Amino acid sequence: MAKIKILGGGGEVGRAAYLVSDRGQNILLDYGVNFDENDRPQFPGHVRPIDLTGIVITHAHLDHIGAAPILYITGHPPIVMTKPTLDIGRLLIRDFLKINAFYIDYDLEEVENMSTKTIAVEYGQEIELGGFRVLLTSAGHILGSSMVYLETPSGHRILYTGDINTIQTWTLSKAELWPIKIDTLIIESTYGSTKHPPRHETEHRLAGVIEEVLDSGGTVLIPAFSVGRTQEVMCLVHAEVPGADIFIDGMSREITSIYLRHKTYLRDPGLFEKVVEHVKFVRGWQDRRKIWRRPAVIISSAGMLKGGPSVYYLKKIGDNPSNAVYLVSYQAVDSPGHKLLETGGIDEFGIDRVNARVEWFDLSSHAGKDGLLDVVKRYKNVVQNIIIVHGEPDSSSNLERIIREEIGEDISVFRPLNGDEIVLD
Ligand SMILES: [Zn+2]
Ligand SMILES: [Zn+2]
Repeated sequence: MAKIKILGGGGEVGRAAYLVSDRGQNILLDYGVNFDENDRPQFPGHVRPIDLTGIVITHAHLDHIGAAPILYITGHPPIVMTKPTLDIGRLLIRDFLKINAFYIDYDLEEVENMSTKTIAVEYGQEIELGGFRVLLTSAGHILGSSMVYLETPSGHRILYTGDINTIQTWTLSKAELWPIKIDTLIIESTYGSTKHPPRHETEHRLAGVIEEVLDSGGTVLIPAFSVGRTQEVMCLVHAEVPGADIFIDGMSREITSIYLRHKTYLRDPGLFEKVVEHVKFVRGWQDRRKIWRRPAVIISSAGMLKGGPSVYYLKKIGDNPSNAVYLVSYQAVDSPGHKLLETGGIDEFGIDRVNARVEWFDLSSHAGKDGLLDVVKRYKNVVQNIIIVHGEPDSSSNLERIIREEIGEDISVFRPLNGDEIVLD
């Protein structure tokens, strides 16, 4: 009989880690980290590498891959993911190690060991691991992101969504749900209580205000995550604000070259190549000191203004009311970006008041509650168990409520905590 143990991601966003066991074989779905209020990494529950038949990683965000190299300190289990996930994941893990080495048990050697044990798969390509059948399809979240269809040795079928987006964006197609029978759905719930506004409206509004600022001679700073959000926003600005000078700064340059290397994973590779030709990548301080002095759009990490060149630009342009700072990424409570939105200043940077226009735009790469419910509707006639993970308690309990309204009482719905084990039948 198949069972699932929640090693992380129970009642929390991030630290995804779910151990599926059947007939003495064990597959780990994701092995990510989380960060506490002091930004220290928190790791998921322990699993012995020797007990693992294999690992499947849905995507390159650290909350899904960041703990995986631990399993290569004493072991060498096979690990399945797409090529973009491996390439982006290695870059993010290296950066993670640089900042947090003190708190992390593994080193670059384990990251390399993990890479050599990687089975790189394409979407739709089925592989077999110790009696488990594994198939990845596109999740629409970041480049190479996947959902996992998993059939256990005794024939129990599971769909794990990973992080999922159910709308088409500039860079990616929406999540690809296959019309096949599943017994258990493991679904994320990051925005289980949020209804995102229609994307085209948000984009239209953002393009409009960018144009206004540029027309009046101002500069627009868009702090953005370097994976996904930067590429998304540069396509949007290129298409909707024709003629705008667009500069990209931060780690996004390397990430964008990975996007280009794996362009078959993009929704429209031709469009993306054209945008990359048009935008200018900031090469160093010589560029950085110049570009904010004239009308331009600067897309820069870090997305929550936690550091990186976006903080430099904020200090340079923030005083002048002709300029604007448009936040487009998730802003964690107590992050500098959140403080800027709440108070108009950021005390830790010594900025009492930002005079530039400040606004937040919802360009999330996660499905909102409607999108998540759509996934449930697709499988409601076949599924027996729904396991809600990767969400704060408010959000996951709201999703549970609306799922219940949709499906009635015949299906089991679980909202497990870390350490819980669920027997699937
Ligand atoms: Zn996640
Ligand atoms: Zn993610």
